[in-house]
Amino acid sequence: MIKTIAVIEGDDAAPEAVRPTIELLGKLNIGLEFVYPAVGEAAERETGSAFPEASRQIIDDADTTFFGSTSGNTGNSLRYLRWGKQTYANVRPCLHLPGCASPLKDPDGIDFVIVRENLEDLYVGCEGPIGDLAPLRLVGRTVRRPVHELGEGKYAIKIITREATERVVRFAFGLAAKRRNHLTCATKHNMLRGSDGFFLEVAREVAAEYPDVEFDAFIVDDFACRMIREPKRFDVVVMPNLYGDILSDAAGGLLGSLGLAASGCFGDDYAYFEPAHGTAPDIAGRNIINPTATLLSASMMLDHLGFAREALRLRDALLRVYAAARDAGTPDTLTPDQGGNATTTEFCAAVTAAL
Ligand code: ATP
Repeated sequence: MIKTIAVIEGDDAAPEAVRPTIELLGKLNIGLEFVYPAVGEAAERETGSAFPEASRQIIDDADTTFFGSTSGNTGNSLRYLRWGKQTYANVRPCLHLPGCASPLKDPDGIDFVIVRENLEDLYVGCEGPIGDLAPLRLVGRTVRRPVHELGEGKYAIKIITREATERVVRFAFGLAAKRRNHLTCATKHNMLRGSDGFFLEVAREVAAEYPDVEFDAFIVDDFACRMIREPKRFDVVVMPNLYGDILSDAAGGLLGSLGLAASGCFGDDYAYFEPAHGTAPDIAGRNIINPTATLLSASMMLDHLGFAREALRLRDALLRVYAAARDAGTPDTLTPDQGGNATTTEFCAAVTAAL
């Protein structure tokens, strides 16, 4: 059966990783069809809208969307994919690929997954001048005075709802149950007792539904330290949005590069896939972006579409390319972020050959 994938290549260097990935997926000959909704500047020129209704329809009709990365130009489509499609669980695997340039002495065996709540927390986008809060007369628990009296400045609102927390925590437990039966929750519940404390409270309630999954919780700064000191002790880690965003980039660094960090965003009715990194504007146009994160995101997408065998084949091909570099004792065949001098095109050719 044909599966349709809406492809949004994204901005800056992102298309340089997306295009060869789509080419490689096409070579699998498993009936994938790619459609390209017009978004961003091109769409604006043609239709007057950076995200026209027709593009939204293409996304709705597709089985999934593959997204490069946005620097704002294609941001409307990303907002639709997250908030419009309610993709509340951002899954970011942190898997060591033997042969990649991890800064750790012994990274072999690192294999955990960050599940980041994807829709709320500070990312509800509610910010403004502190003075606007005057009618509320909010008194800070620590500053012990109305916050609008603190002087010129801005506020941002952090929202943690029961519904969003329950669903992302259930999702994370479900994932842990398919892996090594261990879920960790990371929040700043000691300081943000009301909001993060609530996230943890709800997580503990949900934990009662999964007696076979071991559950533990750390203050997020303690977790950050443990993630670096003892990353192999973790299986699945669930976090509110902001911590998940920051710590999954940190986990990318732990593995050796942002260019290695894949991601998929899952809702009840839709999922889309994108690398965890940004658009890498500083290396745009140079054909040196590491496409590993994009290829691994494609592997997650294949799994989601029901092509588990091909998903594994693609991941194994990547593992073989890194292992070959390790066996050769030189990262030459890898991209520059890994210490090599291969172009994105050369790296993708090596993955295709390994397939
Ligand atoms: P965002 O906030 O959108 O996640 P960011 O601020 O994390 O973006 P990135 O675009 O991810 O920024 O880039 C951060 C640094 O990592 C840049 O120097 C960039 O070149 C590098 N980088 C990111 N992705 C890759 C990649 N796939 N290959 C090589 N280098 C990368």
